[in-house]
Amino acid sequence: MEFITGYTLEELKERITGLGLEPYRANQILSWVYKKLTTDFNLMTDLPKKAREDLSKVFSFHPLRLEDRVEAPDATKFLFRTQDGHLVETVLIKERDHLTLCVSSQIGCAVGCTFCATAMDGLIRNLTAAEIVDQFLQVQQVTEERIRNVVFMGMGEPLANYDNVRKASQIMVSPWGLDLSKRRVTISTSGIVSQLKRMARDPFMRELNLAVSINSPRQDLREELMPLTKTNTLKELMEVLKNFPLPRYRRITLEYILIKDVNDSVKEARQLAKLIGPYKKKFKVNLIPYNPDPNLPYERPPLERILSFQRELWDRGVSTFVRFSKGADVFGACGQLRSRRVMLKSHLHETHPEMAR
Ligand code: SF4
Repeated sequence: MEFITGYTLEELKERITGLGLEPYRANQILSWVYKKLTTDFNLMTDLPKKAREDLSKVFSFHPLRLEDRVEAPDATKFLFRTQDGHLVETVLIKERDHLTLCVSSQIGCAVGCTFCATAMDGLIRNLTAAEIVDQFLQVQQVTEERIRNVVFMGMGEPLANYDNVRKASQIMVSPWGLDLSKRRVTISTSGIVSQLKRMARDPFMRELNLAVSINSPRQDLREELMPLTKTNTLKELMEVLKNFPLPRYRRITLEYILIKDVNDSVKEARQLAKLIGPYKKKFKVNLIPYNPDPNLPYERPPLERILSFQRELWDRGVSTFVRFSKGADVFGACGQLRSRRVMLKSHLHETHPEMAR
């Protein structure tokens, strides 16, 4: 079976022409899929009966199966199972006046950040465009309010899965697709320099929002926290970001996970301001106090230390915001729900094998 959510409009036109259907039928099909959230060809009443039957033999709708759902007051975490048996997590974040969906782009991750539970497994594989779009569709199907914001901030490094993330984003922002605003789709990367250069040259991708995990203004500490940065140095990263062609009135977000006694001193805040230098209008900083994980040796700084760090940056003219990650009381930072589930399962295998399914 092929998944309909893996096709752009143009690709679907070509594919269904091969099945003997007129190209304009692709618009009708995608309107059912993305506007009416239909998952049954029989309900697509503007298609001839024969076409509906033929299409159901070739395509299906969901590459992912919803396996679990964890509710917190300000977020819901969805756990999906892929057809080849892997777990994928997606988080719906309830902001004051809108919803944001945090999607995964890979199973596992090769970047290896020492503070991240996803990194423990290494990279297993890239998600397909259909699997990325399906996270949105399935969550939207069970959510009354329309989801208007997407961040690629779940499991995985989105720019290491460039082509699939690009295609999924195209489906998300196209009028024939989910019709989101380009400004409301954010690529959050650990800063792979070659892929950022590719993004800068790509007229479609560079119109999306860009967030980059900086996490330290010092090369040595950054290497320790994010091993990938040995070859994607701070100097190279800042150079590509300072030259990145942004749409008007847009800024690059520098994400900074604040970890107690690791990267949270005011000295580091000053170094970060220095790193940004005269490009203050091009960047804003998001400080994200770390969500402790029982398997990792890091802690969250006390509030006054977080606020001192922020004040130091504001005093130097850098727009800086503190973002507590939502649902922290039920689950932590990226990858943690999945890792806990995997751990729970291996524990159950040893103790109650009948429950570990
Ligand atoms: S924080 Fe993000 S980039 Fe780093 S290992 Fe985890 S998923 Fe990968």
